[in-house]
Amino acid sequence: MKYKSTRGQVAGLSFSDALLMGLASDEGLLVPETIPDIRPDLDRWRDLTFVELAQALIPKFIDDIDPTTLHGLIADSYATFNHDDVVALQQLDGITVLELFHGPTLAFKDVALQLLGKLFEHVLGERGQRLNILGATSGDTGSAAIDGVRGQKNIDIFIMYPKGRVSPLQEMQMTTVDDDNVHCIELEGSFDDCQNIMKTVFADAQYKSTYQLGAVNSVNWARVLAQIVYYGYASLRSSAGAAFCVPTGNFGNVFAAYLAQRMGFPIAHLLVATNDNDILARFFATGTYARGEVHQTLSPAMDIQVASNFERFLYYHFEQDSDRLVAFMQEFAANGAASIGAPPDTQLMSSVAVNREQTLAAMHEVNTQFGYVLDPHTAVGYHAARNHLDHRETPTDIVVVATAHPAKFPEAVEEATGSEPTHPTLEALKGLTMHRQALPCDIDAVKTYLVEQLRSEPRA
Ligand SMILES: *Cc1c(COP(=O)(O)O)cnc(C)c1O
Repeated sequence: MKYKSTRGQVAGLSFSDALLMGLASDEGLLVPETIPDIRPDLDRWRDLTFVELAQALIPKFIDDIDPTTLHGLIADSYATFNHDDVVALQQLDGITVLELFHGPTLAFKDVALQLLGKLFEHVLGERGQRLNILGATSGDTGSAAIDGVRGQKNIDIFIMYPKGRVSPLQEMQMTTVDDDNVHCIELEGSFDDCQNIMKTVFADAQYKSTYQLGAVNSVNWARVLAQIVYYGYASLRSSAGAAFCVPTGNFGNVFAAYLAQRMGFPIAHLLVATNDNDILARFFATGTYARGEVHQTLSPAMDIQVASNFERFLYYHFEQDSDRLVAFMQEFAANGAASIGAPPDTQLMSSVAVNREQTLAAMHEVNTQFGYVLDPHTAVGYHAARNHLDHRETPTDIVVVATAHPAKFPEAVEEATGSEPTHPTLEALKGLTMHRQALPCDIDAVKTYLVEQLRSEPRA
């Protein structure tokens, strides 16, 4: 399988090249040149465990790592999960909750970032290269990315987070990791400042190549690939085909579901659930993609106005016509809005925005009715599924994707249910030493810090 960019200027990349490139060099996003049709495999795949399914599916997209090695990397990635079959399915009266939060940092991002870490380690080792990862986080990505690469000798990871604006637990999850290759930067600024610094540093081509910078944000193709597996897994366990409701921010997770459907898994509908940051809900209602103001909500991992993976969906919407895509993205960059002309067909995919009150009510209701605790992101999905999928005419199984363990967001859960959830993994962090470097909101300060850290360490 080869990879190409949505913007049309990059093609013919191997999987390993796509993995290391992250964002395509023409600023597009990498996609596979073809989408495999897995319908002939479905009967054989129905009873596979999660790991077995990952080992059957992922090699269809990777032909430059030998299959035995790849099987081993996949098995190792999911050995860190704290559940027998990696992910879990819970039944709540007509709605299935697909729990993706049994990994080391208790959010679904582990499913992709544990594998990404192993793939990086393997490919860098084979090529005798090293990589310095620079990332910005508003919470969950940082800890999951750090956990995926901690202790690796060919990688250093630098994660910037906005001072005082990630939760204390999230900060502890990042900064209590004491491996030498992990560097947490507490930046005097907002998440947008962190992201802008990251983009500016990456735009400096010479610095980027001198210091071998790489990215782990959700535009990396390998992250999308890893996420396809659980949609396949859950859809094969439903008798009538599945309708997934996905709490969405950057559109990476639901884009993986879209690909799973196009590959031929029995998926009837995808409901994109957003919080008050409703750019996607407005797009599916009107056909216009228009930037709005960023609202702070109870589901901070979804407080995003411009969804970076949406470009991949648009590319397929435009039937892989890069010229149309580039025109759309240029218009959006220039005006903060662009339109596809009319509302899109919502047969397969639709979207709904869920507000604060509805989110709290969903957490309260599920706790009272089923004694089951939702985190605020999953609660957005649950509310959307209950109210917008319940009475669809086609008989499908409704699956809500649970993106985080409720103990990661104790304040919101306490507000809704009256009690604070806990998790032993998080309790164990309390009182550990935090390793972090405070830096001003300044590009040169970040660049200099990175260079100093790399120089002060013995290199293999
Ligand atoms: C990252 C995240 C999301 C959003 O996922 P996208 O792939 O960005 O749409 C939702 N919930 C939680 C808990 C997350 O960490």
